Amino acid sequence: MNATVNPEMLTLAREVRGMTQTQLAQESGIRQTKISRYEGDLAKVDEEDLRYIAEALGFPEEFFFQSGQRFGAESTEVFHRRRRSVSARDIRRIDGLVNLYRISCDRLLRAFQQVRALTVPSLSVDDFDTVDDIAYAVRSFWGIPSGPIKNLIAQLEQASCLVFSVDFQIDKIDEVVQWIPPSPPIILVNSSAPADRTRLSLAHALGHLVMHRNELPYKEMEHEANRFAAAFLMPEHDIIDELKPVTIQHMLELKQYWKVSMQALIYRAKELEVISERRFTSLFQQLSRFGYRKSEPFPIDHEKPRLVSDLVDKHRLELGYTDEELAQLLRVNIVDFYKWYRTGHKVVDFQEKKMANRQKPGTKPKRPGEYIERGPRGGKVPRPRIVTIEPGDSPLPPTQKPGRTWERKGPPKP
Ligand SMILES: [Zn+2]
Repeated sequence: MNATVNPEMLTLAREVRGMTQTQLAQESGIRQTKISRYEGDLAKVDEEDLRYIAEALGFPEEFFFQSGQRFGAESTEVFHRRRRSVSARDIRRIDGLVNLYRISCDRLLRAFQQVRALTVPSLSVDDFDTVDDIAYAVRSFWGIPSGPIKNLIAQLEQASCLVFSVDFQIDKIDEVVQWIPPSPPIILVNSSAPADRTRLSLAHALGHLVMHRNELPYKEMEHEANRFAAAFLMPEHDIIDELKPVTIQHMLELKQYWKVSMQALIYRAKELEVISERRFTSLFQQLSRFGYRKSEPFPIDHEKPRLVSDLVDKHRLELGYTDEELAQLLRVNIVDFYKWYRTGHKVVDFQEKKMANRQKPGTKPKRPGEYIERGPRGGKVPRPRIVTIEPGDSPLPPTQKPGRTWERKGPPKP
């Protein structure tokens, strides 16, 4: 192999799998000292070792030749909520995933230069009187009408953010954000969290993106992001009159309309001085008594990210990619492709798909791509003809001998 392995990708793949170097050594049969030297770029990765490592980590070998760099928990571009009680390994695993999404999505975006109408503005806390004002500025910048935000994920996607709903397998982290230009902001939300909490997490993440992009971490950051989230989802002018009377029953009604938790509403009521500190404490005691602090009644519906699945669908429908080819493009194995990029789609039988790739000459190709001549039953033929069918071309040309078929090999070669 001429290309060299990018040691960053070795570490990234290992972290995504939540493995230590010792575990990878056990799984791959390669000494840990060697793995450590490979990851530290102190030794060139042996071709055979790479095969074992790739297999142990469940990534195609091409994954490791990608350029790119990890940005870890130390970087100011990455923010976490509730990170203190989370194990370092879990943080690395989730950080790894956000890095992986960023690197692979650049490939997805390349084919479709999407010009999004909106971007995430950068606004400094020093330039505004209050954090609330920053939230309102973003709302007006994006042209959001007054009242509740109906679909926050759709709103973020319109502003070029890539949102992924992923099962973090732990409930201590709600969301992770990373913004490394020129890549778009990448936001991961924990799919196992209730929808109202996810919306609050997303608004919190947006607060970080807007206010703290180029800042070194400081103590007030988390508080500012929380305040931004509350103001962004519940602007004072729109909600203050609706909040009264602040009772559990009334909060239950408001929750459905504003799509935020009762706790967030009560908290906002205190922030806006609609209720006193004492009333606030008593309401939270009531929530606890009903068990609502752990799990609130009448959950709201989950919002689904669309942008990435639309990009995947465009590759399938307009460029004729199969799922296997898309997995190859993204440098992941097919199982991970379904898990990470096509959540909710079921895996189609491979044999069935192979048959669907064969067509008779003279018929209109089901999808563009490179086609190779095959025998009547799909077998290989000597010196097969190979043709490229561009989108819009029709129909498939004759074969060299009658009775033969065309089998689609892959997407059109650029
Ligand atoms: Zn935060």
